[in-house]
Amino acid sequence: MYIGRFAPSPTGLLHIGSLLTALASYADARAHGGRWLVRMEDLDPPREMKGAAADILRTLEAFGFEWDGETAFQSRRHALYRETLGRLKSAGLVYPCHCSRKDWQNAARAGADGFVYNGRCGAADFRPSETDLLKTPAWRIRTPDRVIGFQDRIVGHYAQNIARDIGDFVLLRADGCWAYQLAVVADDIEQGVTHIVRGQDLLVSAPRQIHLQQCLGAPEPSYAHLPLLTNAQGQKWSKQTLAPALNTAKRGQLLRQAMRYLNIPDIPETDTPQDLLAWTVQHWDIARVPKNAICTERQDGKAV
Ligand code: GLU
Repeated sequence: MYIGRFAPSPTGLLHIGSLLTALASYADARAHGGRWLVRMEDLDPPREMKGAAADILRTLEAFGFEWDGETAFQSRRHALYRETLGRLKSAGLVYPCHCSRKDWQNAARAGADGFVYNGRCGAADFRPSETDLLKTPAWRIRTPDRVIGFQDRIVGHYAQNIARDIGDFVLLRADGCWAYQLAVVADDIEQGVTHIVRGQDLLVSAPRQIHLQQCLGAPEPSYAHLPLLTNAQGQKWSKQTLAPALNTAKRGQLLRQAMRYLNIPDIPETDTPQDLLAWTVQHWDIARVPKNAICTERQDGKAV
């Protein structure tokens, strides 16, 4: 039984880094005879780009990807997130937090992914003030002071002490938006996802997600975190680094480029996306995927 997924955020259009993730998660699923889902992570409207969700789905189709079942949209799944937070509330694992960022970040210590929250609102003797109570709180989950580790299929062993390295983290923001960590775990559990293949920018999130799975009594999926693709300056391709959007007219060339990064052998010269995808599935071997970031640009800006 294998259920995998590709979960783009419509904050921008797909780029070569997203194509690598789509291709690797697709190939790993199909090579295992598994299902492959597409989930649109459209949870944060202020950060989204108008029209990006539809463009992403059209681009995936143009590149020959076929996914199983209907596309899931996080924006339509608020009831699931509310129910999931409700279960954590009933179990006494979460608490409302009245702190604004500037209340605590000035004195905070830097951790593995930003500042470590000091736990003020979660202390046993904490009583919110009247002004605290005027604000809508965020909700944080308590983090255990123990090491959470796992064996990543590409990176190898990875571990964090989330109390020390991350701190109690937010599940529902004070502005009413669900945090990525809660939504992704609730969705992966509800959709029965068994295998997660995604970029190494999310490696730092995996121990938090495993903690949430444990709190919810869910099985731990298998993880594979892909190397990041970078520009000539070594920065990850993203909207911020002005990653060029995938050009569907060059889909054959772009797929073959992504296949090269994944070390697929004897890549055929064809430009037919279906043939290139089938070749990738047939020759898929995760042991050949490089561990380290790959620069996709020469100093002169040409693709490698
Ligand atoms: N939506 C996330 C992103 O585009 C990916 C989430 C995940 O794969 O867990 O970076």
